[in-house]
Amino acid sequence: MFAVNVAINLPVKNLFRQFTYSVPEALQFIDSGWRVVIPFSGQKVEGFVVERVSLPSDEVLKSKLKPVEAALGDTPWFDKEMLATAKWMADYYMCSLAEAMRLFVPGKSSIKRRAVRDAQGRLLYYVYNERLQEKTVLAYRINAAGRQALAEGTLAKRAKGQHAALGVLAQAAGALSVSELAQQGVSSAVARALAQNGLADAVQKRVLRNSYNTEQERGESLQLTAEQQDAAVKINQAIDAQRAQSFLLQGITGSGKTEVYLRAAAHAVDAGWQVLMLVPEIALTAQLVKRFQAWFGSEIAVAHSKLSQNERGDVWYRMRTGKARVLIGVRSAVFAPFEKLGLVIVDEEHEGSYKEEDHRPHYNARDVARTRCRLTGAALVLGSATPDLCTYYKALQGECTHLHLTSRPNGAALPKVEIVDMRKELEARNFSVLSRALQQALVMTAAAGEQAIVLLNRRGYSTFVMCRDCGQTITCPHCAVAMVYHKKNEDLRCHYCGNTMPLPQECPNCHSRRIKYFGSGTQKAEEQLQQLPEVRVLRMDQDSTVAKFAHADILRRFADGAANVLIGTQMVAKGHDIPNVTLVGVLAADSTLHLPDYRASERAFSLLTQAAGRAGRGDRPGHVIFQTYDPDNPILQLAVTQDYDTFAKRELQERKNYFYPPFAQMLKLQVVDKDEGAGLVLAQQVVFYLQSLKLQGKLEDLLIAGPFPSLVAKAYDLYRFNVLLKAQDLKETKEALLNSEFKEKANLYFNVDPVSVI
Ligand SMILES: [Zn+2]
Ligand SMILES: [Zn+2]
Ligand SMILES: [Zn+2]
Repeated sequence: MFAVNVAINLPVKNLFRQFTYSVPEALQFIDSGWRVVIPFSGQKVEGFVVERVSLPSDEVLKSKLKPVEAALGDTPWFDKEMLATAKWMADYYMCSLAEAMRLFVPGKSSIKRRAVRDAQGRLLYYVYNERLQEKTVLAYRINAAGRQALAEGTLAKRAKGQHAALGVLAQAAGALSVSELAQQGVSSAVARALAQNGLADAVQKRVLRNSYNTEQERGESLQLTAEQQDAAVKINQAIDAQRAQSFLLQGITGSGKTEVYLRAAAHAVDAGWQVLMLVPEIALTAQLVKRFQAWFGSEIAVAHSKLSQNERGDVWYRMRTGKARVLIGVRSAVFAPFEKLGLVIVDEEHEGSYKEEDHRPHYNARDVARTRCRLTGAALVLGSATPDLCTYYKALQGECTHLHLTSRPNGAALPKVEIVDMRKELEARNFSVLSRALQQALVMTAAAGEQAIVLLNRRGYSTFVMCRDCGQTITCPHCAVAMVYHKKNEDLRCHYCGNTMPLPQECPNCHSRRIKYFGSGTQKAEEQLQQLPEVRVLRMDQDSTVAKFAHADILRRFADGAANVLIGTQMVAKGHDIPNVTLVGVLAADSTLHLPDYRASERAFSLLTQAAGRAGRGDRPGHVIFQTYDPDNPILQLAVTQDYDTFAKRELQERKNYFYPPFAQMLKLQVVDKDEGAGLVLAQQVVFYLQSLKLQGKLEDLLIAGPFPSLVAKAYDLYRFNVLLKAQDLKETKEALLNSEFKEKANLYFNVDPVSVI
């Protein structure tokens, strides 16, 4: 006899404790990894069994244990590797085991209960079902009587339709749904008649909701370059060896990383393994998904963030049972169950969207993937033109194998980049957001029947509104940010909380009527582009892509030639491959360079390189224009040459000098509070606590900065204070925090390896 320790699946922050339950006779099969129903503070809730423990010998203690009520599913949800990954996450990201384990189940709380009553309506017991409903359809299967009738030909004369239908059913491997029968010329009336005559059985057949599911031959296979071939061979060897080898596949933009991914995935699938392919955002990777579908057809499952809970349940089911071999998905797909994982690919591994920054636990899917690979032996491929500096450093240190793709397969050159000094434009009295050089290049591109992409990383029309007389800017009452003027709706909007307000008639401070609009967003740039001859514009930013699949739709229309200029925020710079694009213009190329964040240079270099890389991917050369008020900026100069290695070596030296990752580990503590004073006090208390430990000679190399207000000091009516912690190894610091009262503060967030420190 034994008891079990259970982590409670409740959306409660900081429930670190686990609880012990007894296990009734009928449920003695329960072991670690099972999802169970348990009584908890007067409710029936879901829990995860973490481990079996021996029953306490103390009879009083024993009698206090409540029993597990039911087991969910017919197998444990967590296998050993998933449970170990969740435990690693809890340690590394400083969250409770329950918070980590919840990420692995589709749907947050997925049970519902049904009362079973006797004839008098008295409650007998409850039945627990997973809320995930299997979608089933009516289907027919031939039975013994049917096979006999078919063999004897009893229906051949008097009911030819039924006879033929029996023939179709006899050929099928299992039951055929009504629509499958219709495809083979069998009407539902005939099928129903067979069932009524006792020659076939009507059954329910599970169908999987996967809108991407299409049956296809393995798609076109391009000739690989020597570098691609070499990369594929090395990865394939690692797949065969299953020794958890990891790779950095560093390839310039347009160098054909996808071809290498496809070969490696095909090699893994042919050897009986499953493949996980993580992408930053499904909507922006439609081309890649299509390419994989052409190769793997119905063996592919796709998991994007807009799947319903049931659709997600289906995808997880297909992976767990091995019905699908390749899973393509965003961040959260890293938690899928696999039957036999052999390869993980992380495309654009430097992308910030792999890091969950908004909700606890703040995990990075790339690093969770690394852990799953370590535990399963699967090979890991991290691909990028501009790798995360931490990944790059690992490759330099030999911790992962460095693979290079240094040329574009069709021999195309990297685009030619020029810098335009916007100060000179002002001197020449050009007040447009478009420089004269860019205007001219756009007109020529349009006239030649080619296409252009224009990047401006600011949405809206005017990015701030200010009073001419007293200098007051209009800010959101809930967030410490400027309101943005949106011309289409004729209103002001907060890009943080979505709050809107009418255009001000007068200054709220001094009642002056001299209100002026400053700064240019994508809407204003769109308006100015439309005035150029022969230019037809499409705009892609968060405001134009609210609807499901709107991104993919805009990109498809652009690729089809519905417009010859695409203007938008950074989403226009990523992933897609449109051969007719020969010109890229970046307005305000220095806009992200001056943020007070140690990763500002890395992010700016990456964005500029990715944007430039959209040009000249076909057989015509590309041309790129960076507009800036800071033309001598060294990062901008390096982006012009698109020379990542030189940039990376320079930046790594800076990181070393100032003790930043990869040379230090970082932890951001963030306090959020409705009350500004209370928030600051809590942040100070954490700092005092850590400083007192240092005074006792502990946490020697820990560096503490702050507390200071976050760059956006208030959002959604909550004040935000940051404390930054750095050390060569933060293990002891994490332990100290997890052993303190601060662990269970609901408004204190631990963000390990923060993407942004501001
Ligand atoms: Zn907006
Ligand atoms: Zn004023
Ligand atoms: Zn706001």
